[in-house]
Amino acid sequence: MHDNTYLPDHFLRHIAAIMPAHLSMDEFVASCRRPLRRSIRVNTLKISVAAFVARMQPLGWQLDPVPWCDTGFWLSREDESVPLGNTAEHLSGLFYIQEASSMLPVTALFACEQIRRDGMLLDAAAAPGSKTTQIAALMDNQGMLVANEYSSSRLKVLSANLQRCGVTNVGMTHFDAKVFGQWLPETFDAILLDAPCSGEGTVRKDEDALRNWSIESIDEIAAVQQGLLESAFHALKPGGVLVYSTCTLSLQENQAVCQSLQDKFGDAFSFDSLADLFPAAEKACTPEGYLHVWPQIFDSEGFFVARLRKHHSVPNTMFKPGKLGKFPFSPLPVKESEPMLREIEAAFGVVPHGNLFGRSEEIWLFPQLFEQVQGKLRFDRIGLKLAETFKKGYRLTHEWALAYGDGASKGFVELDIANAREFMMGRDVWPEQEAAGTGEVIVRYQGHTLGMGKWVGSRVKNALPRELVRDNNLFV
Ligand code: SAM
Repeated sequence: MHDNTYLPDHFLRHIAAIMPAHLSMDEFVASCRRPLRRSIRVNTLKISVAAFVARMQPLGWQLDPVPWCDTGFWLSREDESVPLGNTAEHLSGLFYIQEASSMLPVTALFACEQIRRDGMLLDAAAAPGSKTTQIAALMDNQGMLVANEYSSSRLKVLSANLQRCGVTNVGMTHFDAKVFGQWLPETFDAILLDAPCSGEGTVRKDEDALRNWSIESIDEIAAVQQGLLESAFHALKPGGVLVYSTCTLSLQENQAVCQSLQDKFGDAFSFDSLADLFPAAEKACTPEGYLHVWPQIFDSEGFFVARLRKHHSVPNTMFKPGKLGKFPFSPLPVKESEPMLREIEAAFGVVPHGNLFGRSEEIWLFPQLFEQVQGKLRFDRIGLKLAETFKKGYRLTHEWALAYGDGASKGFVELDIANAREFMMGRDVWPEQEAAGTGEVIVRYQGHTLGMGKWVGSRVKNALPRELVRDNNLFV
């Protein structure tokens, strides 16, 4: 029980006025004070759900399926001495710690039969990346996903999460998401706008979430949300699908924002009913077909999800192409890319997919559809940095290893738990195997990649990026 959860009276009066008749305020308050159940989502870019469950159950992990996400589980662990984020499985990107109700928006987006998994998608407010990584997994790293975030510090966290999870089809941008309707009209097959909001649904994980709550602040943020939704709608192709979501409860930031779009663009789109999204979804369904998840319904955080389909174009008075600096990359000539790809295949038995681009001393793998947005948007990073070049050759990156290392059929070394711990603490290791190798090597623990190393005799020199080095309390 969180007795210190701050639930001011004026907030509770506001909620009581909008709480549906079949739900109780007492249960609302009780659930706000109850700690959240821990939940995770399996990253199917790296491991199947069945293999993950088989790996974790013997370690005392109890995994209870989240009914609206077939890769999501509530988790209880017999031994909690190692923080979840320090487990080997988290460090190698096998799962993402994500609140169960926060899995709903992407489920809603991909439940739409028109969704193109190899299309051009936008995640307009993406950091820290729980939904970006969820979308990328459902796209199976195909097509292209533009992940945008306005806050610089949060952009860095997004980038780290994409790398850890082996995501290769994302282009990251750093703008106020209002620009997408102006710069890229009718560009995206599908859009998620998981909007910045007042976070009324998050009190169960942050007891001070409502410290600065006021009607004025809600109205202010609702105006921002309206602008973001209208812009996202312009950026959506006719025939495309858009999900608008928040982790807040007030009608102003949810139903009223959807209504404002309806008032503007009338029959150019329609909202889908999400009542059948999963068994029991109707318990949270509003008359308009949105999901308004009160925390007591599914014992989760509060959430709101609406899904619309765009039927036809609307006049766009916003359109104004963005200013771009010089694009620093150029496609790698085939005479350079082919030998490199063949060498990687010969050494590791995997072929990186995507288009190879180079700039100064770096070689990158860009997503398949990158050319559709090339010259229209400035990116912070595109796809995956494959290698750094130097006079006599190149060095494959840590992020390449995390994306491709699990699929390697050779050129890897398996560590035991003691060595794996040492490796994650930034130290060189001496694996016990019959013959030492030469050159670069993918370092794995129980079949999943921790990073890159280099053979020096029987020692593997540690090439883990310094910022990923952990001090202690690693693994079970
Ligand atoms: N989708 C994220 C996830 O699932 O991990 C959570 C997104 S959070 C609800 C909203 C994000 O929007 C925050 O990271 C915030 O920094 C960002 N943001 C705030 N104003 C924005 C704007 N005008 N344009 C784009 N992003 C914005």
